[in-house]
Amino acid sequence: MKTLFEKIIAREIPAQIVYEDDLVLAFRDINPQAPTHALIVPKRPIPRVAEAKADDQPLLGYLLFKAAEVAGKLGLGKDGFRLVINNGADGGETVPHLHVHILGGRYLKWPPG
Ligand code: AMP
Repeated sequence: MKTLFEKIIAREIPAQIVYEDDLVLAFRDINPQAPTHALIVPKRPIPRVAEAKADDQPLLGYLLFKAAEVAGKLGLGKDGFRLVINNGADGGETVPHLHVHILGGRYLKWPPG
């Protein structure tokens, strides 16, 4: 069964797409936790970062590189931003398809709580 994000990748569910290439897709989060909140996902369906395989390492690097690039494209380059990866139940992961949250547009407290 396809995950929610696989359905977004396949255009079966609408999303506000902000970046796409052959390997990754970035779109606005439906329930933003900051003035700017997007998600970037690999098109390859890795459930979560802890389940990435050795072969996935180049893709993980690419995902992070593109996350920073998308943050810049969304206007977060000057004031800063946060990238978050939730992993598993205690990590707050709700969609079992690896995704990096891109958050910014306000000061983000640390620790997040
Ligand atoms: P996580 O809790 O780390 O698994 O993050 C999942 C994120 O997906 C949450 O921030 C949700 O608001 C977001 N989300 C859920 N459904 C959609 C959707 N249809 N389009 C965009 N973002 C979504």
